Amino acid sequence: MEATQQDITHVGVVQKIYKSYWWSIAFYSFAVLLYAAVDSGKRIFILEYVLGLTVLKLILLMVALELIRWQFSRWQTYICVLGGSIGVFFATSVLYQEPTASALLLIPIIVSVAFFRRKLVLFAALLSVINFWSIYFLEYRPHHIIGLSDIFTILSVLIVCTLTLLSVLARGQEVLRSLTASMNARQLLMTENEMMQRAVHTDPLTGISNRVKFTEHLNELVTLSKSSQFVFHLAVIDIDHFKNINDTYGHIVGDEVLVQVARSLRQEFGGNYFVARYGGEEFVVLGMEITSDDFVTSMEHARLSLESMIFNSGIRVTISIGIHTYHTPEDAETAFQLADAALYNAKNAGRNRVVVC
Ligand code: GH3
Ligand code: MG
Ligand code: MG
Repeated sequence: MEATQQDITHVGVVQKIYKSYWWSIAFYSFAVLLYAAVDSGKRIFILEYVLGLTVLKLILLMVALELIRWQFSRWQTYICVLGGSIGVFFATSVLYQEPTASALLLIPIIVSVAFFRRKLVLFAALLSVINFWSIYFLEYRPHHIIGLSDIFTILSVLIVCTLTLLSVLARGQEVLRSLTASMNARQLLMTENEMMQRAVHTDPLTGISNRVKFTEHLNELVTLSKSSQFVFHLAVIDIDHFKNINDTYGHIVGDEVLVQVARSLRQEFGGNYFVARYGGEEFVVLGMEITSDDFVTSMEHARLSLESMIFNSGIRVTISIGIHTYHTPEDAETAFQLADAALYNAKNAGRNRVVVC
């Protein structure tokens, strides 16, 4: 079965919990050694059974848990809590003469909170009660060792601890819910913002960048050129006698021609170029980090390929192009006016040509 995102997150939590289990075993061994050091009467028993046998059992349990850690991802959380409970059983049952050691029974309940699931906390609490029952009543039957008040106290502590952790969990889930809701709202806002930005910068008819985006880009390039050796060129393109197309075939056909011209220009200019519809039947191209000769050649190529295209209804178009290479300290407006002046010259010289200014 495919592991869900939640399972994957839980695998990480389980890994951390197992690490803390290993540390607990180390600390348990250390504490037991101290116990043996101060209690000479029980030293042999402590070293043989508590330290030797129990720690060995704990290590074997951990090895088993680590081995199945990657196998059953769906049940990993339950296995983690169950493993903790078995470990606590090993550690506590050997210390049954010490009712205070039953505080260890709280460990699986606390661990279960890490998974943020109410069911798991109740599962851990149930295991701890079963553990308590089996340690003090089934396995050793040392009824004389703990009295009724101990039983009452230990069970009360388990219940109070479970209830407290359940309310902590409920509060955590509440915080998580509101956090998720605000994150979703933020995500929605970001998406809307992105869509608005795109709409502001896109020409609705042709789908390419519009005059707003072009002006922003031109200003950026001017700033860059003023502060470094950056080279760029600007071309203003105008479709020749476009009005005739509208007059002859209608505006809808005129629109289709504009869309196809835009598509052709976009295909023509990739990489170091930027294409936008300036307005009406005018387009602009920015060429960056290329020589002016290459830029002129590429514009000439675009002019020729448009000239050879046959549009719907057998329409053919030609374009006139004005080119200007930016030089500091011109501002964006001046650079554009110079390219526009070159376009004007191209029109006056008979159209369907490239003129450099
Ligand atoms: P020139 O060679 O001197 O550029 O001649 P022209 O006819 O192309 O230039 P003119 O400025 O006289 O006409 C441009 C025409 O472009 C007029 C206008 O109706 C048309 N036009 C502008 N925007 C659109 C548009 O979005 N769709 C359509 N179909 N036509 C448009
Ligand atoms: Mg025009
Ligand atoms: Mg025109």
